[in-house]
Amino acid sequence: MTLQDPMPEPEVWSARQSQVGAATVYRALPQRPRRTVGTWCFLDYLGPGEPAEGGPGIGPHPHIGLQTVTWMISGEMLHRDSLGSEQVIRAGELNLMTAGRGIVHAEERVGDGPVELAQLWVAQPSSTRNSESAFEHHDDLQHVEFGDAEATVLVGELGGVASAARRDTDHFGADLTLHGHATVPLDTRHEHVLVPIHGAVRAGETTLEAPQLLYLPTGRSEVGLSCSEQSRLLMLGGEPFDEKVLMWWNYVGRTREEVSEAHLEWTTRSERFMVPDSALPSIDVDPPPWETR
Ligand code: MN
Repeated sequence: MTLQDPMPEPEVWSARQSQVGAATVYRALPQRPRRTVGTWCFLDYLGPGEPAEGGPGIGPHPHIGLQTVTWMISGEMLHRDSLGSEQVIRAGELNLMTAGRGIVHAEERVGDGPVELAQLWVAQPSSTRNSESAFEHHDDLQHVEFGDAEATVLVGELGGVASAARRDTDHFGADLTLHGHATVPLDTRHEHVLVPIHGAVRAGETTLEAPQLLYLPTGRSEVGLSCSEQSRLLMLGGEPFDEKVLMWWNYVGRTREEVSEAHLEWTTRSERFMVPDSALPSIDVDPPPWETR
């Protein structure tokens, strides 16, 4: 970019409200204009209290080609997967599950208190997406301060502070609590999205509140944030992903054929997808729409 080129403008997007079982969620990603931000390809934000009356959790279901990043804001869940992992996750902790060629997991409620969490997916690059699955739990995430903001670094690096969580591409995610003004450094090679979850935040010239989110194109070295009361937001960024992904149900692939094959193997419970012990029933859905005419 030369000095004559105008800086690409930020874009205000809106999350869609949807139901996952009895719980209301804001689905912030994917968006129509852009399927991915960096390699971030999915973001559901499950608000406080909303699932308390209903859902016992999410029964066993498969994934391929992605990492699930579960960021617990309040409450507890129990993660089980086909690797034999059995892990309680509490507020301020992160679960990172790498699906690779195939994994099955269930997320069960622990007790009946309110749960607030962000469930994110990262598309795996071709170099790792057909490899072994893996699971990590992180309860000692690093923090970094900028002015009146404190950020927890979930994945990748922000302000010189790095998370120990695995990453296969150049991306980062952070949860930022703000009570005044802050200038947050950005990697100019990254595109970003800011996702307010509590209260209103002013980012540059734009004031945002859930379900709005703000997309920032590459080329920015910082973003100025402010709020009048306390606010909290998720920040995601990454190098624009140059692989065209095909997302359907719980699969991130490249072609219809490979997604169809994975789904058939899940439906027939092949050895690619071992069902972990769970009190919850496994989840099945109809084949992809391109198979029915
Ligand atoms: Mn899942």
